[in-house]
This record gives sequence, C-alpha cells and structure tokens, in this order.
Amino acid sequence: MNQVKMFLVKYAEIGTKGKNRYVFEEQLCKRLRLRLKPLGEFSVRRDFGRIYVEALSDYDYDEALSRMTKIFGISGLCPVTVSEDLKYDSIKKAVLDHFENWYDEFNFSFKVRTRRNNKAFPINSMQMDMELGHELLVAHEAEGLHVDVHAPSVMLDVEIRDRAYIYSKIIPGPGGLPVGTNGKALSLLSGGIDSPVATYMIGKRGVEMSGVYYNSPPYTSLRALEKVEKLGTIVSQYSGPMKLFVVNFTDIQLAIYDNCPHDELTIIMKRIMFKIAERIAEQEGAQSLVTGESIGQVSSQTMASLSVIDNAVDIPVFRPVIGMDKQEIVNYSEKIGTYETSIEPYEDCCTIFVDKHPVTKPKLETIEKHEKKLVGIIEPLIDKAIETVEVKYLK
Ligand code: ATP
Ligand code: MG
Repeated sequence: MNQVKMFLVKYAEIGTKGKNRYVFEEQLCKRLRLRLKPLGEFSVRRDFGRIYVEALSDYDYDEALSRMTKIFGISGLCPVTVSEDLKYDSIKKAVLDHFENWYDEFNFSFKVRTRRNNKAFPINSMQMDMELGHELLVAHEAEGLHVDVHAPSVMLDVEIRDRAYIYSKIIPGPGGLPVGTNGKALSLLSGGIDSPVATYMIGKRGVEMSGVYYNSPPYTSLRALEKVEKLGTIVSQYSGPMKLFVVNFTDIQLAIYDNCPHDELTIIMKRIMFKIAERIAEQEGAQSLVTGESIGQVSSQTMASLSVIDNAVDIPVFRPVIGMDKQEIVNYSEKIGTYETSIEPYEDCCTIFVDKHPVTKPKLETIEKHEKKLVGIIEPLIDKAIETVEVKYLK
C-alpha cells in the first residue's frame, strides 16, 4: 500500500472559473511540483480537466500525503490503480486488485461508474459497469459486498483513457484556491492564536501571504520572535513560502508611552502598526492587510476601536476571524496545527505596554488630538523602522 503510483487530484472551486480555469490548474500543478520535489521524482500533469500526480521513483508515502493534503485548492486526493493496457482482462484484474488493496472487509454497498474518454475502446460504459460489478460480486459477495446504484457507500470510478484509471477512495484536502491566483496580502502576524488562523484563512482563498511582526527587544524576547517564525512556517506548509518582515518597534512604543495617555496606548500603537504595514504592503505589491481581530475580544477590538484603527490607513484590512468566538478560533488553530506553538508563553509587545484600564470607546478626534504630541518624533522613527526591517524567508 505504501507505494501508490498515481493520485488523481480533485479540486472543487477551480472548476467554476470558466476560461481562467487553466491558470488555476497550472498554479495548483506548480504548488504540487514544488512540494513533492524534495521527496522523489514525480510527474504532475493536467489532462482534460484532471490533474494526475504520478510517482516515477520511490518516495515516502506518508510525507507525500501529508504535504499534498495541505495544498490549497485540493479538495481531495484519490489513489489510483492503473491498468497500462486496455484489454478487458487487464482492467478487470486491476479493479479486483484495487479492492483487495484498499479494503480490509467488504461488507458495504458499491457501484461501478465507467467513463470512456477513449472512444476506440470497444466496450461501452454501461456494459463495463455491469461486467466489472459482476466480477467484484463474484469475488466478495460472500463477505457482504452488494450493489446499490442510488446511494452506494463506495463509488468505484473507472476511467478509460490512454490507460485505465481506477479509484474509489478520497483523502480530503484543505479545499480553497491555489495560492498565487488571488494577489498578495500582508498579515500582521503575532505569536498569538488568532493571527496565524487569519493568515491561513486568507491564504486559503488563493492569496500569497507575507507576514509582519513588531518586535520590541529587550521587552520581548528572542523566543517570542522564534515563535512567530515557527507559526509562519507552519502556515507556509499550506500557503507556500512566506516572507516575514520583522520590524523593530521598541523606540516607537517608548515614544508613544512617553507622550500619549496610557489608556490610549494600544489604540495608538495599533494605528502605527497599521501605517507601517501599509507602507511595507505598498513596497511588496500586497493589496490588503490581514489581522486576527475578532469583535469584542479585547478593548482594542470593540467596534469603536476597530473603526479608529482602520482609519489610520487607506489599504483594505481583512479580518477573517472577526465573527468567530475564541473557542472556534482555538478549534481552527488545532486543526491547522498552530495551536501548540501559539500557546507557548512568550510575551508580545502588546501585552507589555498595556494599560490597566484601556479605552473601549475611543473617539477618532481625541486620538488624533493626542497623536499630535508625536508629530516630529514619530515620523523619523517610522522611517527608521522601515529602513531597518529584517526579512526572513519561511518555508
Ligand atoms: P493574536 O492571538 O493574533 O495575537 P490577540 O488576541 O493577542 O491576537 P491583539 O494582541 O489585540 O489580539 O492583536 C490583534 C491583532 O493585531 C493580532 O491578531 C495581529 O494581527 C496584530 N498584532 C498584534 N500584535 C502584533 C505584533 N507584535 N506583531 C504583528 N502583529 C500584531
Ligand atoms: Mg496577541
């Protein structure tokens, strides 16, 4: 079982893209090739509305599957049994082998569904369904195998092309759209639970993701930065190689702390984070920012706060977890594999400069008035933060 020679790649939404379809398919092939390359020799090809991955050398099956089931755009992977020649007896043998290989017991209903793309093949689809169904019953009826043409538990697909492709199992993929088909976004990536999930969710829509992390040494530790890198690396298994911009934020935070009311620190700090992110996004050709904010989760995430923060920038800000409960976000992060890392205890810059009683209903005019105290101080600090940004490549 460990050396599946071929997979059929199922994709759901790409199919709805009309004449752009090939762009999506090509992008998906590219992602597959990139992820499989280190594991052996593979051929990934498109063939009349299908994508096939064929192993041309030995490879690590579990690792290949783990990689492929994380590629956005894939709704499922079907291990395929191939009959190289198109003689009926060879196809029959392959069908019987397929069942032997993939099922331990046979107490279930099934149906054979043949598609004859190769019209030179002499037996028509309906005949094939009947003949092959009969062969399978002869082999396994005693063990409980039976036919159900309306709602079978196992659909056995037989595609007659240049060869015969036989498959019935679907290993689920993450769904979504292939990364690189929907532009670029820059995600404000902290070490928490929420922003890695948000990054994943926008990546899943086919968007190429970069991250920006605001680092405040010595108030935040190297471990906190390493944690963010680790989270970005986990997300990049799905969304592809990711650039992480590490901004040194300490001087900016101290300037805000020294000049602005402490109950407004978080709001003003977020506004400046957004402004910096907007400039990095511009340089990178990213068309939006992404954050892990969720309405009401903390004082800086009330509607009033979000609106004042948004007002700092012109670029669209997407918050895919905006309507999710903390527990729902936690469940999501467990599913994608970021949770264990997110709960490691290293402080980030927000928690350190946070006031005991932060405003929950900030007014834009008041915030802007208090920000005037930063005029002449903050601009050179922002310029310097952008000039000295450190770029890490996560993959
Ligand atoms: P998370 O779980 O994502 O850390 P949070 O619940 O801790 O979020 P906040 O600290 O208010 O909430 O942060 C809200 C959002 O602001 C985060 O989801 C993230 O997008 C962004 N953010 C906060 N701190 C940083 C940081 N140090 N670097 C980059 N982005 C940050
Ligand atoms: Mg946080």
